Amino acid sequence: MDRQTTHQDVMISRRAIESLRQPKVKLDPFRPIAVIHEFEATVRPSRGFPPKASVTSIFITGAECVFRCTMCDLWKHTLDTPTPPGAIPAQIDIALQSDFRNDSAIAESSQWIKLYNSSNFFDSRCVPREDWDAIAARVTNFDRVIIENHPRLVDCHVGEFAEKIGGKLEVAMGLETVYAPSIRLLNKQMTLDDFERAASNLSNMTVDLRVFILLQPPGMPADHAVDAVIDSLRFAGHCGARHASIIATRGGNGMMEQFSLKGTFKAPNAFSLERCFDRALVSDMSMVITVDLWGFENLAGLCESCVGLRRQRLLSMNLSQSILAPCEISCGCADD
Ligand code: SF4
Ligand SMILES: [Zn+2]
Repeated sequence: MDRQTTHQDVMISRRAIESLRQPKVKLDPFRPIAVIHEFEATVRPSRGFPPKASVTSIFITGAECVFRCTMCDLWKHTLDTPTPPGAIPAQIDIALQSDFRNDSAIAESSQWIKLYNSSNFFDSRCVPREDWDAIAARVTNFDRVIIENHPRLVDCHVGEFAEKIGGKLEVAMGLETVYAPSIRLLNKQMTLDDFERAASNLSNMTVDLRVFILLQPPGMPADHAVDAVIDSLRFAGHCGARHASIIATRGGNGMMEQFSLKGTFKAPNAFSLERCFDRALVSDMSMVITVDLWGFENLAGLCESCVGLRRQRLLSMNLSQSILAPCEISCGCADD
């Protein structure tokens, strides 16, 4: 693990990354992009089924992130201008009005909310400070509020916001990987020391940490991908992560296609995601570990016959935090 990879190692200019982009999606700043409801395991039990939380995820429309990570495609659903004051509280109102669920499983669960703004919550261009009280008032009944933020934007303001909400604050940060050649290509503008420092600051403010980890980012040989996820999970655990989410690196933003042409990026297939999740769940790590199933059907190594069953298996493993038997289907899909 190379902890010395520095911001000066950045080799890819902002202009080069932006020049390869497609146009953004046109958005109404006062409407959320999407709202989804799902369940999530709250702990990783040593045995038995973990308690689950009912999670409302609001994908908020807001200003674009100041960073330019090469693998990022979140910019597609962002504004070029600062988020207008009042827009985020209005979006939360719309999102919460649309929740008409009436299910005993929901009523018995803890209630969590994710406010994901495709950027950094603690950048006032993205989330105006003057809206903090209005946002906090709208999420006061939730047991846990999860926001996303770059490690270099973690400061004492995080603690100020944490004190305003009724429940526990959790900050989700992209560690991405501990594999140094990939860190350089990701242009994350962060070192592992930066990440560890941010995690320690969160801990001092009694704010929980969620970590995003990439499977097979650019610069990583496919045969090292699973080991690198396990190494990255261990580092996340060392930093005190409560939850780690594994994300299959995807193309589609321009720069990743450029890496593919140069032979430095090949998107992971479904088998790789399944293998690393199996390994993670038999490890001795105590945090909740899940795989992100957004876009699972687009991974290589799947066919119409197996995609639904294999997705369902991973979803069940997310909730049970234990390995399930492989799907019994002889569709012919094979790891190549
Ligand atoms: S910090 Fe997050 S939102 Fe910003 S460019 Fe990187 S991946 Fe995208
Ligand atoms: Zn198949």
